[in-house]
Amino acid sequence: MERVRVRFAPSPTGFLHVGNARTALFNWLFARQNNGVFVLRIEDTDVERSETEFEKSLMNDLRWLGLGWDEGPDAEGDFGPYRQSQRLEFYRSHTQKLLDEGKAYYCFCSPEEIEKERKKALAEGGMPVYSGKCCSLSSEEVQRRLDSGETAAVRLRTPHTGDISYDDLVRGNLRFDLSLIGDPVIVRSSGLPAYNYAVVIDDALMKITHIIRGEDHISNTPRQLLVYEALSFSPPRFAHLSMVMGKDNTRLSKRHGATAVEQFEKDGILSSALFNYLSLLGWAPPDGQEVLAREELVSLFDLKKVSRSSAIFDYDKLSWINRQHIKELSPRQKAELAYPHLHRAKFLPEKMSETQWEWLEKAAEKLAERIDRFSDISQEAAVLFEFSPIDVEEEIKKESNTECAFNVIRLFGKKIASVKEFDYDKFAEMAKEIREETGCKGKDLYHPLRIVLTAKGSGLDLDKFIPLVEEGAKQNFPVPVKNCSQRVSEALKLLE
Ligand code: GLU
Repeated sequence: MERVRVRFAPSPTGFLHVGNARTALFNWLFARQNNGVFVLRIEDTDVERSETEFEKSLMNDLRWLGLGWDEGPDAEGDFGPYRQSQRLEFYRSHTQKLLDEGKAYYCFCSPEEIEKERKKALAEGGMPVYSGKCCSLSSEEVQRRLDSGETAAVRLRTPHTGDISYDDLVRGNLRFDLSLIGDPVIVRSSGLPAYNYAVVIDDALMKITHIIRGEDHISNTPRQLLVYEALSFSPPRFAHLSMVMGKDNTRLSKRHGATAVEQFEKDGILSSALFNYLSLLGWAPPDGQEVLAREELVSLFDLKKVSRSSAIFDYDKLSWINRQHIKELSPRQKAELAYPHLHRAKFLPEKMSETQWEWLEKAAEKLAERIDRFSDISQEAAVLFEFSPIDVEEEIKKESNTECAFNVIRLFGKKIASVKEFDYDKFAEMAKEIREETGCKGKDLYHPLRIVLTAKGSGLDLDKFIPLVEEGAKQNFPVPVKNCSQRVSEALKLLE
């Protein structure tokens, strides 16, 4: 059996959209599970809109997602080059062949003429198909006009009756009426190949066996099949994936939220989580399990089970999947992912000592339980680094039983001032004594204790918070962490 060869063929005209990333992912999964080859080809013949910056950023995004390629612009294989702008000679030689065989012809119609014809056809209720005006020009006339410097496009000569069909791996048999297609332009008057032409030559010469791409290319497929036929190339299998939509059933765009892979990365989504989530857009694993690692997806993914209906991008579900992937990380990984955010928030220094990393591992472990994405970690960590007695006062005022609160805090202040080393066990012991001495219990006891330590009504549980601030206070952080006794004494100063 021939070796599976698939390709992802982005145009470097913008940032990598999650819809395209999903296309890349399905290709990648299919290649990996078939021991095949995943090719990256840059379709940069639209010189006006293509930018090297976009090429770089989309390659970075693919790498970040874990979608490495076996052949591509920076991994030359046997079928390169892998940038269309470097393949012009291939297109040119095939065009010459088609012209020589009479399978293609020069078209001198100007864009204005074509537009006029198009409008006329539409006004008459017809389809805007090229009239074929230039298809029967004599070779002498063609030569004369070319010699006189007239610019010309090249069109493929195609049959205008009957139909053309193929079996789509996702959508089944698809049939197209040839009378609605007309002779497609294969080379523009600028000399650059049209997408529908270049893509076929590249896919054929690169020996691509399966084309997996978005269904916005379904209408291009019959034109491409006509090119395959004219060049006597055997066509690959096609699989067209449904579009990725927002919840309102319109194409996923910035209106819905982040769409660029890079943005998800910045927002603290893990690469493994985005990889996992994208695989579920239009496909579901057989047993309904949704949290899956890369290797599991490689073995479970089934192109034949990909759904025809549009896939809805659900940001909440992505957050949930991200949370599940966060849980799987080691303490060190959590610390490393938390670090840039906490550094940016100025809580952590530029250079961290090993003991600071050890502390951060413990802190990140606890804080990560409370977040859906790492970009939220600074907000959760603020309780460790920031403490304002004014907030304590505010929070206490919100309390119904203020008298109890003041008594509890005062007594706690006395007790904590008398111990050298404080930890959660000591806290529990003191809380018990305070309950006995003040008669305040339950929420009336624990809420004021939490507020005087954290200046907040909710957040990390105290059994986690206390060891973190006690140990954190011994570290030399840019924003010094205050230990429990400092916090209580500062609050008391303000309250008394
Ligand atoms: N460059 C095309 C795009 O980005 C590729 C389409 C294809 O896969 O054939 O849409």
